[in-house]
Amino acid sequence: MEKILVVDDSALQAASLKSILEDMYDVTIAQTAEEGLHRASCEVYSLILLDVVMPGMDGFTLLKKLQEEIVTQSIPVILLTSLSDVHNEYQGLVLGAVDYITKPFNPLIVKARVNTHIKLYNYRKLAEQQSMTDQLTGVANRRRYDHYSKIKWNEAMRQHIPFSICFFDVDRFKVYNDTFGHPSGDKVLAAVAKAISSRLQRSTDFFARYGGEEFVAFLVGDDSDKAFCYLQKIRQAVEDLHIPHDPSVSEWVTVSIGGVTVIPQTGNDYGFYLKIADTMLYDAKKFGRNRVVWVDENMNQRLEK
Ligand SMILES: [Mg+2]
Repeated sequence: MEKILVVDDSALQAASLKSILEDMYDVTIAQTAEEGLHRASCEVYSLILLDVVMPGMDGFTLLKKLQEEIVTQSIPVILLTSLSDVHNEYQGLVLGAVDYITKPFNPLIVKARVNTHIKLYNYRKLAEQQSMTDQLTGVANRRRYDHYSKIKWNEAMRQHIPFSICFFDVDRFKVYNDTFGHPSGDKVLAAVAKAISSRLQRSTDFFARYGGEEFVAFLVGDDSDKAFCYLQKIRQAVEDLHIPHDPSVSEWVTVSIGGVTVIPQTGNDYGFYLKIADTMLYDAKKFGRNRVVWVDENMNQRLEK
């Protein structure tokens, strides 16, 4: 069931909307704009019904905030108001609301508008998904990773569970391309992506091509011991593909892996840990390639081999 968020200070009005929609949708109610903002950034909604007049932060202000956040900016917002004057309606639409419903509600109109906007949203999501897939390897691309990792990072922060970020880089890939040509290099990238992604299939794993011969993944819920062991197996699986490399650099195509596990706390910056993972990848290269270098929850570095 798709999720709808109703943000309305009137409990009665929110309950009436919920009763109109709950046979088709999973409806959550937030009674303040602050709570609405928090829920919208932590959970995944297909639509927000937003009351304009509320004490404290009003609907227009919340709408602006939703538009500013990468995680919430694409969720369609329908404004609810008894203010039927043209100026308010205009202001809401200019701010990015997709539609307007005036009180008192007609249940059939509410349903029809909600259905239409959810349908449009799903079409758009599908098109976006296609634009978020890497053409060469078929795995997610960097854009999708950036979008999704932030949502999951916030979830892990809320649930106090470990979050691991790791980078993969095909070793001596430039040499491979120079020796065997780019079409062969492309095949290697696809084969490596397949070997890794087939081992990161849990709903708590996410894997993407980051750019060039670099890939990125996050794992939710595993402690550093488990993540570190698992990534070593994945590194071995790539080596076991036995794709011949240029013999002057290596027998087989391999990957170096760098990562970090952290239990995100409020105020922790995702970008900071992404940089740590990238630095660990650099260390894996420095220490001889085809190995995993990890940073655990206590910021201790762990080396394979
Ligand atoms: Mg109100």
